[in-house]
Parts: sequence; C-alpha cells; structure tokens
Amino acid sequence: MTAPHTGGCRCGAVRFEALAEPHHVSYCHCGDCRRASGAPVSAFVGFLVDQVVFTGKALKMFESGPVTRSFCGICGSPIAYVDERLEDDIYFMLGAMDVPADFEPTLHAYVSEQLAFLHMSDDLPRHLKTSVKRRDGTVP
Ligand SMILES: [Zn+2]
Ligand SMILES: [Zn+2]
Repeated sequence: MTAPHTGGCRCGAVRFEALAEPHHVSYCHCGDCRRASGAPVSAFVGFLVDQVVFTGKALKMFESGPVTRSFCGICGSPIAYVDERLEDDIYFMLGAMDVPADFEPTLHAYVSEQLAFLHMSDDLPRHLKTSVKRRDGTVP
C-alpha cells in the first residue's frame, strides 16, 4: 500500500484522502464503538490529522465527551473519530477506506468489553482497554 489512501461513505457525499501511511490499525471492541457502528467489533485506521483532506459537504459530527465521531449526513455511514486528548490523530473506520484489505489490524483494543460469542483466532496483542495512551493520562 502506498499513499495517498482514499475513502468515503456509502453514497459518495463524503470523501477523504490521506496523504501518508497510517500510524495505527486496530480492532476496537468497546461498547461505544459498537453503538456507533452497529457491528460487534470495529476496526480503525489512524492517520495524522494534518495529512488528511476531506471533500464534500455532508460530513456531520456527534460529540460525546472528548470524542467526536463523524458520519455522512445523507447515508449515515460512520466515517471517523477524533479524541481531543489525541489532537494530532484521526481514526477512520476501516470499512470507510476504498481498499480496506490494505489495512490489516495489528492489535485488539478494549477486549475487556469484547462480546463473549465473538472469537477471533489471531495472535495479535490484546489490550484490556485503550491501546493508545492519552496525553492527559486518562483512559476513555
Ligand atoms: Zn453518504
Ligand atoms: Zn472503541
């Protein structure tokens, strides 16, 4: 995989481009991602926010504490999340990438909230909570 990496929502009203390689690809099992995605497990591709360009006018935001999740205001596809404690980063839903097969997760986060019936037979590192340290030291 080589940059730029493109992605967008299901209807095409939200598009984005990342001009560099991701610094982070992970699964997240937390209940908040589960609600936001509707899926039993989510996966994210993290880039530096200043290496990402959005096009289109349909991007909507939902703020919950320090975390803001974005989605397409027309088709509802989840797009990304940002955390004000990780101000340099943006994490895209892996499924929003145009070539999701290029982004193989390297770890699991929040396995403390993993659904008991979900079995994923890989040998990746498993973090009980977050895998990315917040700068203020808190755990979301
Ligand atoms: Zn859309
Ligand atoms: Zn999560």
